[in-house]
Amino acid sequence: MKFLMFGAPMAGKGTLANMLAEDYNLPTISMGDILRASIASGDENGVLAKSYMDKGEMVPSEVVCAMIKKRLAEKDVQDGFILDGFPRTPDQLKVFVDEKITDIDVVVNIEVPYETLLTRVIGRRTCKSCGYIYNTSWNLGYEKCPKCSGEWGIRSDDNEETYKNRYEVYLQETLPILSYFEKLGKVVTVQGQDEPEQSYETMLKAFENSNIKGLKEFIEG
Ligand SMILES: [Zn+2]
Repeated sequence: MKFLMFGAPMAGKGTLANMLAEDYNLPTISMGDILRASIASGDENGVLAKSYMDKGEMVPSEVVCAMIKKRLAEKDVQDGFILDGFPRTPDQLKVFVDEKITDIDVVVNIEVPYETLLTRVIGRRTCKSCGYIYNTSWNLGYEKCPKCSGEWGIRSDDNEETYKNRYEVYLQETLPILSYFEKLGKVVTVQGQDEPEQSYETMLKAFENSNIKGLKEFIEG
């Protein structure tokens, strides 16, 4: 089964993707990870991407799509995967469709109210030692990292102003993409406002109730 995670920044795409990946033994493909790895390796696409980023410009869709295409050609993702962070703009979608980069079976559209997203941004804590991410909105009362007892740090871009800008970009650039997949009947909408465990249960229920071909059977194994 080929999944695409969709939703605003902080909607929980990565978290739910990782939980699904673990339970159903699927590889996750994160556009952010691919971009970082490609730049670090200094391959052709990475060098090209870096040249744009150094100038503060957007990496062209052709370069982003070439990276995804290369990753999707690898052996481990032939039977299924969970894609996160791509396509992100109508232009990327166009290249994705024109070049027939891959088939997607299910688009998981995670809906979370703006106020909740904001609470998550402001409540995000990252362990200074091991990088574990916690959110005070989960109300688990962790004063220190539960993994290593490290101290919590707050990222400089986790503030209302920065988030508001990211959310605006999502509304204008990314959200319009959803209608393409809706027309194909591939979208499952999940209410993801709860903490991760609960949202994950909500997501599996939505899968079981959807009429996307093969999805219910896949989840029931
Ligand atoms: Zn830690």
